[in-house]
Amino acid sequence: MRLFEGTPFDRPPKCERCDRLVENCECPPAVAPEILPEKQRLRVGVEKRKKGKIVTVIRDLAAGNQHAELLTALKSSCGAGGNLQNETTIEIQGDHADRIKQLLQDRGFKLKK
Ligand SMILES: [Zn+2]
Repeated sequence: MRLFEGTPFDRPPKCERCDRLVENCECPPAVAPEILPEKQRLRVGVEKRKKGKIVTVIRDLAAGNQHAELLTALKSSCGAGGNLQNETTIEIQGDHADRIKQLLQDRGFKLKK
């Protein structure tokens, strides 16, 4: 029930983009703009996992950004497997800290010391 529904003050909600009533709107869902690399300050660290497995972990990526393309670039640059741990963390198999830091900086990311 909207405020003033059924009264002369009632204004059905309209889409700001197409100006149609929201119930008739066919606009694609709004996509939040991605946070630019230079606005992000990443942590890159080498960590040891179970059975002595070494991984390079990139943390503090912007939540909400798409990281699939970055993950692919990192894997191909390192010639190693890897995956997205969560919205903000990428893990690459092996110790590739130097290469990964360089790649991230080349893309404009800032790194935490
Ligand atoms: Zn619309």
